[in-house]
Amino acid sequence: MDPLNRLVGRVGREWPPAALVTQHVNRVAPLRTTTFVITDTQPEAPLGTGLLNDLATCPDCLREMADPSNRRFGYAFTNCSACGPRFTITADLPYDSPPAAMGRPGMCASCRLEYETPADRRYRAQPNACPTCGPALSRPIAEIAEELRLGSIVALKGIGGFHLLCDALDSHVVRRLRERKALEFRPFAVMMPSLEIVRQHCIVEPAEEEALTSPAAPIVLLRPRPGSDLAPNVAGGVPFVGVQLPSSPIHHLLMRAYGLPVVATSGNVCGEPIVIDDRDARTRLRPIADLLVTHNRAIARPCDDSVVRVGMTGPVLLRRARGFAPLPLDVNLELPRALAVGGHLNNTVAIGMGRQAIVSQHLGDLHTPQARQVFETAIADLCRSYRFTPEAVVTDLHPGYASRRWANACGLPIVEVQHHHAHVAACAAENGVVPPYLGVAWDGAGLGEDGDVWGGEFFAVTVAGFERVGYLQPFRLIGGDAAAGDGWRVALAMDWAIRGAAAFGERSHAGILEPMLERGVNAPWSSSVGRLFDAVAAVIGVCDRNRFDGESALGLEAAIDPGERGSYPFGDGLVGDWSPLLAAIREDLDRQTPVGAIAARFHLTLVDWICRVADRLQIGPVVLSGEVFQNAFLSDRAVAALQARGHDVHVHRRIPANDGGLSFGQLIVASGLAGVR
Ligand code: ZN
Ligand code: ZN
Ligand code: FE
Repeated sequence: MDPLNRLVGRVGREWPPAALVTQHVNRVAPLRTTTFVITDTQPEAPLGTGLLNDLATCPDCLREMADPSNRRFGYAFTNCSACGPRFTITADLPYDSPPAAMGRPGMCASCRLEYETPADRRYRAQPNACPTCGPALSRPIAEIAEELRLGSIVALKGIGGFHLLCDALDSHVVRRLRERKALEFRPFAVMMPSLEIVRQHCIVEPAEEEALTSPAAPIVLLRPRPGSDLAPNVAGGVPFVGVQLPSSPIHHLLMRAYGLPVVATSGNVCGEPIVIDDRDARTRLRPIADLLVTHNRAIARPCDDSVVRVGMTGPVLLRRARGFAPLPLDVNLELPRALAVGGHLNNTVAIGMGRQAIVSQHLGDLHTPQARQVFETAIADLCRSYRFTPEAVVTDLHPGYASRRWANACGLPIVEVQHHHAHVAACAAENGVVPPYLGVAWDGAGLGEDGDVWGGEFFAVTVAGFERVGYLQPFRLIGGDAAAGDGWRVALAMDWAIRGAAAFGERSHAGILEPMLERGVNAPWSSSVGRLFDAVAAVIGVCDRNRFDGESALGLEAAIDPGERGSYPFGDGLVGDWSPLLAAIREDLDRQTPVGAIAARFHLTLVDWICRVADRLQIGPVVLSGEVFQNAFLSDRAVAALQARGHDVHVHRRIPANDGGLSFGQLIVASGLAGVR
């Protein structure tokens, strides 16, 4: 075989763990040279590669940092071409522009030599640095560890932003952090020094271990081990704890010095984006933290820790950020030259480039002006980085979403995509499923084409669009979106639909609620399965109202008795009927049936419903999307039951099932719409 073909063959086989081979081979005239060089990108040349993902510190770099004879011994910014920050420090493309673009002045002679030697591990590693020439922390690691030991809250600048850290075994300091962050219940993520220590505190399955130690080093949701001495207020009442291993030299060194698990939560003010610059940190984080530690390597763009949950189908990304974004996603159709702006919560934005979608990192909820600023910056950043000029903007139908309002004002032609259509299209596309298929989209809320609040939908999806072939029996959503947290209101509305005024019993607010229910004043119809979870959790006493998003669903899932096999009546057609379900649950409560059995039966009722619809319609593959499917029990059981009945079923893996997946799904739907190229 000729040497060129051999080389191409080897490039396709022998690549480092984090490599991603996406380009085709292009033959050019011989250069007649005998040395190996990577030439500089010509400024006017089309971009070959996009922004790359950040990678956790590799074993070679860890060895050097631990070796007293190495010049990088204990150095907090050690990296090489196999590891280190990329996305979060690249100010502009092309990536091989001078290191100044990486936010730092020139390298010292030793670093420069490594950078220029093809056989060196640091050949062309743009952020290459050492204690002589590279960035430094504002405080020594030993001092940060000592502060943690004294019970302080530390704001520490990392890779994609600041973290707030404190001892995870000390409930007093955790409470102080909750008070100062004004975050009473939402669970905190924990960073642990080693896999051994993770095993002391949590049950770790092999697939979970693989996710924890992968180059992306995400937060992985784990079940705590009974007897773990993690402070109970870390998990905030949730049956899982989000755990990550150190992913950067800063965190490795700190964890080695401290030796115990620390809370590592995003360095932000509640509802605002993660803080990335020092000036912001001084005004926003100083009131929360006792000690502020920064460093002089600039963060080009915010990037939170990613979150992964491992189910029967493998790892599923719940938040796609550090380590994953903004790697291109290959799709099997031509995408429109459009910008998709996602939803309102867990926002991401995406651009379509041929058969690749570039989806931004998780940008968060768009409630605050700061968050909307990050959203706008991310759009400008994606377009500039990829030299991309959108010809249209793809957006949700909901007029109140901040992303929709931005789309209205941006001056580009608007393409509207229904919320749940985008959900199922995202899941189908990431699994290579093409229409026709049965899309099951269950979430909290999304605006339906009829103006109602949807969220329990079955769609027959074709290339041309979708037909709503099944849904949850609509109920009055008292208070509209404001009721999103109150399971008792949903339960009451359902009860009222069944029993009329008798549902109010002795309740004093019947006078206010009755006209809302009768005439739908501030009480739109909703078919949301997310709200059904809230109602059931309230009825069985697991959770009366959500103190954070998804609390009742997590509570119901945690309560499940996995040995239970029963289910409840739920109508026998394509519409899910909650009235026999609620009646049966109340009977079970009267019989003192354990909550674990009721919770399991409720989940299995929903599984039965999906199977019934899939069996009846026989449309093709079944695609499960929407945040309700973040529930691992529901998702796993649905997949198993559908497969057992011969259905081809697909769930999310690399794209979140929650609204973080909408931008990607919007691009997919837009590719099939008339008038969009
Ligand atoms: Zn390395
Ligand atoms: Zn150096
Ligand atoms: Fe949604």
